[in-house]
Amino acid sequence: MSSTIPPHSPVDLHMHSLHSDGSLSVAALVERVAARGVQLMALTDHDNTAGVKEAAAAAAQLGIDFLPGVEISSEWNGMGIHIVGLGIDIENPTLQRGLQRIMEFRDWRAAEIDRRLAKVGIAGAEQGARALAGSRMVGRTHFSRWLVQAGHCRDNAAAFERWLGRGRAAYVPSDWIPMPEAVGWIRSAGGIAVLAHPGRYKLSPERLRALLLEFREAGAGALEVCSGSQGAADCEHLGRLARELDLAGSLGSDFHGPEIGHAEIGQLPPLPLGVRPVWESLSSPIPTTH
Ligand code: AMP
Ligand code: MN
Ligand code: MN
Ligand code: MN
Repeated sequence: MSSTIPPHSPVDLHMHSLHSDGSLSVAALVERVAARGVQLMALTDHDNTAGVKEAAAAAAQLGIDFLPGVEISSEWNGMGIHIVGLGIDIENPTLQRGLQRIMEFRDWRAAEIDRRLAKVGIAGAEQGARALAGSRMVGRTHFSRWLVQAGHCRDNAAAFERWLGRGRAAYVPSDWIPMPEAVGWIRSAGGIAVLAHPGRYKLSPERLRALLLEFREAGAGALEVCSGSQGAADCEHLGRLARELDLAGSLGSDFHGPEIGHAEIGQLPPLPLGVRPVWESLSSPIPTTH
């Protein structure tokens, strides 16, 4: 790999495919994981595991260690909180029934977003967003991409700012499941629950600590100490919290696609010293050096 490519981690446990709001097929995603030199990956699509079997097979073909995963949309004190489940049994009925409920809510919400956009003079949004989503999970990102493509706004950020973001004209108050329930489903399926991108919730240190204490109480085991959407300073700070609260640490880029403004696969700093890597209790053999 050329020296112009940023340093990368051999572990990346958070990424999306076309089965949610990623832009790559499972096959293309796993090929990119291999090209980036990542040796241990997890596929963590939003609220469904439809791509996991294909990803596991593709990873095995390319000699990459693989963890089945999911990123569950949940709610804590009125805020949307994302919980990554790693090492889950995707056949587990409790998990799958729960995910089915979320997907039904997403379908209902898509129609509701459509109605709200129609009221402000924008027609055809649900059809447009669903065409982008295929037959799979439909989310606000599909609406924002359609709004851009249809010429209603400049970019995704503007679509959230004007219509889709909290409190805007097409915002539907979220009815996600309570955070402890999401943790429970992951535990039922034999997995470890990881708090995704803790830096993204913009919580004060006290509120973040309160969230983590409840999260741990619910049976969760880890937090995403290093994320593509967090800087190196956050990584150090979250590493200290993980050690202090005896939670394991995870690493995940939250990659959505080459053209989507998130970090590249594996573009992550190593876990800070003294943080217990979440994958040590989930898989072997595992890469331990960075
Ligand atoms: P959903 O789960 O369908 O409610 O969609 C949430 C997703 O929308 C998040 O995971 C982000 O990827 C994306 N998103 C949220 N806020 C913004 C924003 N202000 N600009 C661009 N994307 C956003
Ligand atoms: Mn997403
Ligand atoms: Mn997320
Ligand atoms: Mn994600």
